[in-house]
This record gives sequence, C-alpha cells and structure tokens, in this order.
Amino acid sequence: MSQAASSYPWHSAQWHQVMTMVKQQRLPHALLVGGVPGLGKLAFARRLAATLLCQQPIETDACRQCKSCQLMAAASHPDFTQLQPEEAGKAIVVNAVRKLQTALANTAQQGGARVVIINGATDLNLNAANALLKQLEEPGDNCYFLLLHQWPKPVSATVTSRCQKLDIAVPTNADAVSWLSQGMDAETARQVLLLASGAPLHALALFEQKAHEVRRQMLVQLTAILRGQQTSLEVAESWKKLPLAQTFTWWVEWLNDLIKLKLTQDDSCIINTDLLKLLQAVAQRSDIAVIYQLLDAVTQQLNYVHQRRNLNPQMVCEELLNGWYLLVRSGAKQ
Ligand SMILES: [Zn+2]
Repeated sequence: MSQAASSYPWHSAQWHQVMTMVKQQRLPHALLVGGVPGLGKLAFARRLAATLLCQQPIETDACRQCKSCQLMAAASHPDFTQLQPEEAGKAIVVNAVRKLQTALANTAQQGGARVVIINGATDLNLNAANALLKQLEEPGDNCYFLLLHQWPKPVSATVTSRCQKLDIAVPTNADAVSWLSQGMDAETARQVLLLASGAPLHALALFEQKAHEVRRQMLVQLTAILRGQQTSLEVAESWKKLPLAQTFTWWVEWLNDLIKLKLTQDDSCIINTDLLKLLQAVAQRSDIAVIYQLLDAVTQQLNYVHQRRNLNPQMVCEELLNGWYLLVRSGAKQ
C-alpha cells in the first residue's frame, strides 16, 4: 500500500475528530496538521482530501471506487493540489502560490469540493506566506486547505492565526512497538523507536536503512578506541563512508547524555538508555570541560555538514575521534 492511501492506528483519535467535524459541516477551511516527523501527517491529509473529494463517501472514509477516488489514486484529480518545495530543503515560493490562486479562481471541475495540501507550511517563504493569507481568509465555497506543520520548525504567525490546529500525537511506546513488530522483532523495534524519538514511520525508515546496525557498529568502535584496541585512524577510515549528518547527530546526543550523567549522576535523565554502561564508564574517567570541548567540536562539524561545506570526512572524523580517545584520559589529570 502506498503511503498516500495508508491510515495508521495512531491517527484514529484525530481522524474521528475531523470526521465528526465533516459530518456536522463544521470542518474549518484551513487546518494546520502538526507533529514531529515520522507520524504520517501527509498520509492523514491525503486521506482527508480523498474523503472530502469522494462522490459517495462511506461512513468514515473515501469509497475508493467513484470517479473522484479513481482520479485521486491516479494523482490526476483536477480539484486537488499538493504544493511543496520543488527540491528538498528549498522554500515554497510566491509563484507557486500565485499559480494556485489562478487555478482556484475557476469552479470545481468535478462539481464537488476543492482541496489543497501545503506539504511544508514551514517551507513557505515570507512572500509565499503573505500571498497565501488572502486564500486562507476567503477560500471560497467548499474549498479546504490542509497545511502540514513539521515540528519544531516555526510557521509564520499570520498563517497560523488563520488556521485551526490539529496535532498528531506520538503513539505510546507499547502501541508503536506493537505496530513495528509486524516487520521486526520487538527489541529492534524498541531500539529504532528510541532513535526516532518515538515516531513509528521514522523508526521504520531507520530500520530499512539498517541505521540501528550502523549505530551499534559505531559504538563498538568507540569502545575499542577507548580501550586502545583500535586507532582513531582506523575507525575514521570506516566512518568517512557513513552519512556524516546522522553520525554526528548521534554523537552529539551521546555527548549530551554524557554531560547530563556527569553533572547529575542521575541515570533516569538520559535518552540513550541502551548506552548507560558505556556512558557511565566514560563519565567517571573524563573531565567535564573536555567533554564540552568535544561536544563543541562535533556540533561545529555537524553545522558544516548542514551548510554543505566541503569537508574532508577522513580528516574530520580522525580529529574528532582523537578527541574521544583523549576524553577518558582527561579525568586522570585532575
Ligand atoms: Zn469515492
């Protein structure tokens, strides 16, 4: 099943809420669907779009059979538009919103509702957001805007003020593990969920990329460096092939946990609970100022990666791993 047609168990409360509004004819013309990445907000919005456009909706869904549903499935419904950045990481520009306005000036071709999904309300640049305001204020009859808000990025306050908010919540750990366990064992499900801050679809993507195995291997190597069984040079050799953004993000999280442990000696405050033993051992033997220095260095390299600067991955990794090696030797000097 494609993501476009999927419904997920953790959507059910919000789905029930919007369907009640539809039945009572009080669905707002602009809905801001918010949540952390990896909860299927786009699938939720597309399901709602299909249901609003369907010519003979069944109790709580589109029928999937009428002309309108067929057009949606073929991605060629004339009264449905999905707006998003042309390239990942780029903004939605004002021209795209103007084109939309022209299209919406005509009546619905299938004679029913018209639906616009803005996949990335956070990606609207200032001019695009301003151009959209008029549409949100006077959407026209039977016209609905579904804006997706990827937390924690901010959405323009003027856009937000014209929408009703609907937040998709992160499911409970037990529910998410149970859903993921259809395709993996429960222990792996718990691990990838931890890496995905509890968002099941993000966790599934990490599992498919084998990210949990990469992470485990990284930890084995970091431990080997501390024990003097592998050199920074050798480990840098294998790390340089990894996606640096992910590698450094994890490392920043581990160092943050390390600092929390060092400052509070409280196990319950850390995120990477599976690393408790390693982190405790390192915390005991290292100096807090040196941990902060390494955290700064890794954070800076992570920023460079995000800025798409030209880095020499081998050199950068080796230097940072040297810092890691020195970490457990820094406490002794106190
Ligand atoms: Zn239908």
